[in-house]
Amino acid sequence: MKIRSIRCAGLRGATPEGGWSNELKPDDCVHTLIAVQTDQGLTGVGSVFTSDHLVRGALKLLEPLLIGEQALEPERVSEKLHQHTFWQGRGGSVTHTISGIDIALWDLLGQATGQPVGRLLGGRYRERVRPYASVLMEEPKPLAERLRTIKAQGFRAFKIGWGPFGRSDALDEAIVRAAGDAIGADSLLMVDAGGSNAFWPHGYKWALRTSEMLADYNVTWFEEALLPDALADYVKLREHSRVPIAGGEVLTRRQSFQPWLEAGAFDIVQPDVTKVGGISEERRIAWMAREHGVRFIPHGWNTAVGLAADLQLASAFPDTDLVEYLNGSPFIDEIVTERWKLDADGMLAIPDTPGLGLKLNRDAVAKYTHGERLFD
Ligand SMILES: [Mg+2]
Repeated sequence: MKIRSIRCAGLRGATPEGGWSNELKPDDCVHTLIAVQTDQGLTGVGSVFTSDHLVRGALKLLEPLLIGEQALEPERVSEKLHQHTFWQGRGGSVTHTISGIDIALWDLLGQATGQPVGRLLGGRYRERVRPYASVLMEEPKPLAERLRTIKAQGFRAFKIGWGPFGRSDALDEAIVRAAGDAIGADSLLMVDAGGSNAFWPHGYKWALRTSEMLADYNVTWFEEALLPDALADYVKLREHSRVPIAGGEVLTRRQSFQPWLEAGAFDIVQPDVTKVGGISEERRIAWMAREHGVRFIPHGWNTAVGLAADLQLASAFPDTDLVEYLNGSPFIDEIVTERWKLDADGMLAIPDTPGLGLKLNRDAVAKYTHGERLFD
């Protein structure tokens, strides 16, 4: 089975806020879907966390390496793309775009063999996983209200982050206290400082002090507490914080994770399958993390395709029992034919149907790609 064509289409019209200081508007495009079509009529889908303009540019470079290639050899074909683009876009838009292609190739391999991707990754350790609701921080009162509404939908794990966090110690504590009270002791609470926001103003001492406060509220992990390149500070923070330290969402390529894992920078590593190089790359990072005593929790939350890839990855690792879930995004909830449903324990079933186990609602996709065609 050979690759016949690759299409991409950007999602816009309902882009959720990112909490960034240069905030996203609904019509901004930062999520792009990919469809890889074969000469035998199968179509695999992928997702890229970057704008369609950048994906289109990268595809111009990648297409000649892909058309006519084997459609059922994701790891070899993705590695070929990495190897032949060493001098262009490495770690940036080209790596991001390879991520979407790689996810689509795994989807194709699953469809062609009749197996879920997780099984093809080596086997399924679990049939369901706990999604944690990812919520932008607000002032304590509106945030608490929001969390109560989401808890009523069945979620039992929550991550709050970005927004006003880091403005003052007193407000930070008030936010965390209000969130903890709102979700109750039967739920998990994670805190994401958003250290990869532009001009993040804090350093190690703020992070250590804040980690002490978070420990008092039984927070499950403290994410991006430092500037995303502050490796030495991450190592120190992990050593001294009572709360587990999470990070790595901005890193791409397995080779970039190696020094962080070897140095002991994280308790929890969060590669993003839609940026890092796809499932092939993330699988290798996740095993590398495990050998270093680091837990792997995936970060591909941004579209239904990213979430579907995360579910398959979560099934294939012994201690990956959480995935990120962005609440209220039509790019996750609306573009699928079957809505995501939490069970009574607040868990999501991991599809055991072929490939990613995902069926996109083509009309809904067309609505958010503004009519741009993703499928033939
Ligand atoms: Mg984060």
